[in-house]
Amino acid sequence: MHHELLIIGAGAAGLAAAVTAKDLGIDAAILERNDKIGKKILMTGDGRCNLTNESTAIDAEDEMADLSRKFHCNQAGFPMSVLQQFGIRQTIDFFFGLGLPLTTLKEGMMYPMSLQAASVLDIFQLALEDRNVPVIFNTKVEDIIVQAEHPRFTVVCKTTIDEVEEQSVYTSDYLFLCAGGLTAPSAGTDGSGYTLAGRLGHTLIETTPSIVQLKVQYAHMKQLSGIKLQGKAHVNVNGEVVRSEAGEIHFAEYGLSGPAILQISREAAYHLARRDAVTVTVDLMPGRTEEELVDFMETHWGIFGHRAVVDSFIGILHKKLVPVLLKEAGIDEQPYLLCQDLSWKTKKKFYRLLKHWEFKVTDTNGFTNAHATAGGIDTTELVEGTLESKRVPGLYLAGEVMDVDGDFGGYNLQWAWSSGYVAATALAKQISEGAKTK
Ligand SMILES: Cc1cc2nc3c(=O)[nH]c(=O)nc-3n(C[C@H](O)[C@H](O)[C@H](O)COP(=O)(O)OP(=O)(O)OC[C@H]3O[C@@H](n4cnc5c(N)ncnc54)[C@H](O)[C@@H]3O)c2cc1C
Repeated sequence: MHHELLIIGAGAAGLAAAVTAKDLGIDAAILERNDKIGKKILMTGDGRCNLTNESTAIDAEDEMADLSRKFHCNQAGFPMSVLQQFGIRQTIDFFFGLGLPLTTLKEGMMYPMSLQAASVLDIFQLALEDRNVPVIFNTKVEDIIVQAEHPRFTVVCKTTIDEVEEQSVYTSDYLFLCAGGLTAPSAGTDGSGYTLAGRLGHTLIETTPSIVQLKVQYAHMKQLSGIKLQGKAHVNVNGEVVRSEAGEIHFAEYGLSGPAILQISREAAYHLARRDAVTVTVDLMPGRTEEELVDFMETHWGIFGHRAVVDSFIGILHKKLVPVLLKEAGIDEQPYLLCQDLSWKTKKKFYRLLKHWEFKVTDTNGFTNAHATAGGIDTTELVEGTLESKRVPGLYLAGEVMDVDGDFGGYNLQWAWSSGYVAATALAKQISEGAKTK
């Protein structure tokens, strides 16, 4: 079967690309290995789909600088060449145009008004049906053959129906590779996009999990498990702070999680892969400087000198933290020691723990639990601003398959929508310019 454009992957990028391409008059069809569209979208934002972030609005110089810090790529300016064409406002309008109004919760994070990720899929399903875009399900692309003449691409697939596998072949003049990265393989992303691009001459930049929980080596993790607190987390590499983030921190038996940890996990994972010494320090009192903390606790212990140290943290710290902090400060054997009898040496231990509680990071929870893949197909091999392959003209990449990843907060889906849209509009321009010169 022949189509002008074949899109590999009905994930976020492939869906945005398909709808846009069809609206621009391109005969597009999607090849998807799963039996439904957007399986990963259903997992996003805790089932609510945090599909963008209002701080991605581009209308001022400083906002652009702010936005560019949210995206990571070996080629620094590359993500902005796409986001300048299709950013937050265009994304809101795009979904509004599809009939999906959005709402904003904390920190600029935007969701469908229903707060259900399933609504995003339902809307895309309707949009594809409205436009008669075929989605060929249960069809895994296994090989791509490129010819000099049109049709340029022969796409060799394995189609599985009722557990019976068959080879199927499709041809197209243009091809979009939107096969995602390595996270959540149960959603269909096992890195096959990298293999397909690699066979066409593209280079893979080393991949590591991003937006992922961190495993730590710490004796009292079991006791801390279940605690959620507001703090600031710093990731340190060989003793130097490389990234800090304030927000919610969760303690689990395996290690640390929560938005602040997920946000700094990219740097931790990157340096762990290089066998650097990685630690996370937690600041339990981010609203106070060290001097302010000392003033505060000295006053508190001064007023309540007659109270046991264990009781002096009531209302200040999460109750489950206190026995562990007493252990770390070396006074767990004497929990009823009075505040007035605390030595300066012990107080200093408390101050250090409250501002710089250190955990040795041993690993991440891996691609299976990560939200994003850092690394991917090298963007220097793509045309900036169009996403067409420099190696194989007519082939475009969109979404997580390439070496671009975003911060926690809706930036990865933003990249998927933006890159899908930009690839489709660039292709439409290429086709119309080609038609004019004929
Ligand atoms: C648990 C979780 C929560 C997340 N939450 C958020 C969030 O709230 N906000 C946010 O911005 N980001 C979030 N993300 C990240 C976001 O989901 C991804 O960045 C985004 O889905 C990437 O879009 P994509 O289209 O590039 O790839 P995907 O959405 O992964 O889609 C790729 C598609 O290609 C198909 N495919 C792969 N190989 C082949 C092949 N060979 N042949 C045919 N089909 C193939 C796959 O089955 C899949 O459907 C989350 C990710 C996870 C795992």
